Amino acid sequence: MPVSGKEKVFETGQAVVVKHTGSHYLLSRLPEWKPFLAVIKGKLRLDTTTTTNPIAVGDVVEYEDLGGRESVCSIKKILPRKNCIVRRSTNLSRQNHVIAANIDRVFLTITLRDPEVKLQFVDRFLVTCEAYGVPVTILLNKADLYRGEENQGDCLADEDLAQMAAGFIQIYSGAGYQVLETSVKTGYNIDRLRELCKDKVVLFSGQSGVGKSSLVNALDPSLNLKTAEISQAHLQGRHTTTFYQMHPLSCGGFVVDTPGIRGFGLVDFKKEELSNFFPEMLRIEDNCRFAPCTHTHEPGCAVKEAVEKGEISPLRYSSYLAMLEDDGKYREGDE
Ligand code: GDP
Ligand code: ZN
Repeated sequence: MPVSGKEKVFETGQAVVVKHTGSHYLLSRLPEWKPFLAVIKGKLRLDTTTTTNPIAVGDVVEYEDLGGRESVCSIKKILPRKNCIVRRSTNLSRQNHVIAANIDRVFLTITLRDPEVKLQFVDRFLVTCEAYGVPVTILLNKADLYRGEENQGDCLADEDLAQMAAGFIQIYSGAGYQVLETSVKTGYNIDRLRELCKDKVVLFSGQSGVGKSSLVNALDPSLNLKTAEISQAHLQGRHTTTFYQMHPLSCGGFVVDTPGIRGFGLVDFKKEELSNFFPEMLRIEDNCRFAPCTHTHEPGCAVKEAVEKGEISPLRYSSYLAMLEDDGKYREGDE
């Protein structure tokens, strides 16, 4: 990574944490990409009781030059986060690990085959994004598996997969999510993905093998993310020492590299709040006769009525019911 080295930064100002390595941080005044070193010095009230890393990649901080010969800045203050995504630490403590803060968009990457998507995983992931206030776009990658290249007609298309794709898109765009079909192999919609990343801090998430690193490399071939190596170390249970970092994309925008992260732990919520994280339910739940309504047994429930009319997908509704039943088990389902 290009570090500005001895080139001194004398200003005091605000910058974004682009990397955290042990006791040091790299900051850059985004959208400018000139990372410089910073440390925590002096009094900075940090919450170390609930998180293992109170300052995370994506945090906006106020820094001050330390003067003297050191080309190291001091972090004075962390600005309030607009959102953050966390995962629970594997140890039995209640601590969370903040993966990243101030994310503009998460790309939940899925595929219909190799690997086959599990809708319950998708729904849980989407609920987590809603709970954390992180905008999400679903990337239906490997579209080449069912979508013949334009100039070749449909001769390569797999009809069953094509039908599954249409069904998937109907469910999730019907729920209010943006779904973008992509193919790294044919380049399909990679330009649209690039537009979505422009000037944004983004993060790719999804099961292993869906093509996250391929997509990032397609966006910017100079970014050869060595995710396989890092996730190997990660799988050996050392994730509390895994450092996340941000990379600049040549097309504009910044991608947070999260080796080995498939999903995020879920925040605690009350049962009657769960439907707030299903946008298609949130839209109509004011019409339920009872408030709060769990949309399970209550008479005059607008959500159940919408499911019966086919306005809400029965698959989404059954995910909702499963999550109500689960009572927290899935919160750890991030690996
Ligand atoms: P990751 O684990 O999510 O980072 O997935 P990778 O980027 O390592 O990709 C997993 C496999 O899927 C690799 O063999 C890729 O070549 C392949 N792959 C990625 N994108 C596509 C695509 O759009 N179409 C097809 N057919 N294969 C893809
Ligand atoms: Zn209801």
